[in-house]
Amino acid sequence: MLEPSGVFHYRDGALFCEETAVADIAARAGTPCYVYSRRAILERFRDYDEGLGDLPHRICYSVKANSNVHVLSLLARAGAGFDIVSGGELFRVLKAGGDPSGVVFSGVGKTAEEVEYALDAGIFAFNCESEAELALVDDLAARRGVKACVSLRVNPNVDAGAHPYISTGLREHKFGIDITEVEGVYERAQAFRHLATEGVGCHIGSQILEPTPLLEAADRMLELAHRLRKKGIPIRHLDLGGGLGVRYRPEDRAPDIRQFAAEIRRRMEGQGLLVLLEPGRSIVGEAGVLLTRVLYRKRTQSREFVVVDAAMNDLLRPSLYRSHHEILPVRRAARGRIRADVVGPVCESGDFLALDRELDDVLPGDLLAVWTAGAYGFVLASNYNSRPRPPEILVDGSQWRIIRARETYPDLVRGECP
Ligand SMILES: *Cc1c(COP(=O)(O)O)cnc(C)c1O
Repeated sequence: MLEPSGVFHYRDGALFCEETAVADIAARAGTPCYVYSRRAILERFRDYDEGLGDLPHRICYSVKANSNVHVLSLLARAGAGFDIVSGGELFRVLKAGGDPSGVVFSGVGKTAEEVEYALDAGIFAFNCESEAELALVDDLAARRGVKACVSLRVNPNVDAGAHPYISTGLREHKFGIDITEVEGVYERAQAFRHLATEGVGCHIGSQILEPTPLLEAADRMLELAHRLRKKGIPIRHLDLGGGLGVRYRPEDRAPDIRQFAAEIRRRMEGQGLLVLLEPGRSIVGEAGVLLTRVLYRKRTQSREFVVVDAAMNDLLRPSLYRSHHEILPVRRAARGRIRADVVGPVCESGDFLALDRELDDVLPGDLLAVWTAGAYGFVLASNYNSRPRPPEILVDGSQWRIIRARETYPDLVRGECP
């Protein structure tokens, strides 16, 4: 049985999140809804933080994985920095009470407005991906009379072995500057008077279940930092990105975060570098489920369907990446097993949560929990088919609260009305 973090577990056949019966949440908040465990999020953060120990470090939580302000606030209070990829994410971090001096700004297409917003907020560093971007940041910093700290995102040409959409560290990807060309870029960047090129960074992909490529990239980045220092470029921080995977299937072996962090510490100790990590999925992924209710059972000549009230607009990952999410009953009923497609109400054949899946037999009205939905879940939700987006709920022991309300029909047309 897949019971991530131990925070989702069964008691007498009923699914609990921490000390809260998940069915009680569904009864009061309705379905579909996202449910997150506060404890699981904080435990994963501490695994990183304590695993790195006394190595000078900052865990910059990758906001795009789950950007709810309350989740960000939780992590900010635990001491996290943040990795953002847009001005909107910076706005969220500031709203959550996050310290701008712990923020790194990643992404291949930052606009001038976003760079200005980040300079004015006083973020820690820009992870730049091209010489044109360096020139823009330098120009905007000059107009403000400040010096911007930048790190170049290097493409270390390591294969993360993940899904092609979420693997980013190979030569043919749009991300980063090739490791064989980057030293020249650092040298030319010294001419920019309003940049402090003090960092090197990489992010090789996502859902990486085998830590070897991440450690290999870390080694290559450290060697690069040494080479740059020899050239007189004073590298002070090393940003190793995110990418550690989580369990989507019972048989997945997710890397142990503490062990991984300890491996990083061992490599980086005594180098005089501030080490940054940008984990997203591995902090929030297993901390969340999507609750959905069975609407209908339907059988065609060739297939069996379970029609539920959650759809691809609520959780896009199965349709977008063909990714697997375990689907488990909120109350175990011992009615036997079935094999079916679990589909939503959206008018698309690509609208499914699972295809040809063996699961516990269910009846209309039954509740199901879609596992490992805390990362890249709600953030990818849309209003397609004019479906209001689901609420988000944060559980803390036997307490829970709605941290984002279910959207209403008027919410759907807000901004369209004069
Ligand atoms: C998405 C992203 C991350 C987080 O990746 P995870 O796989 O969720 O840990 C970190 N850094 C950058 C630059 C990213 O784009």
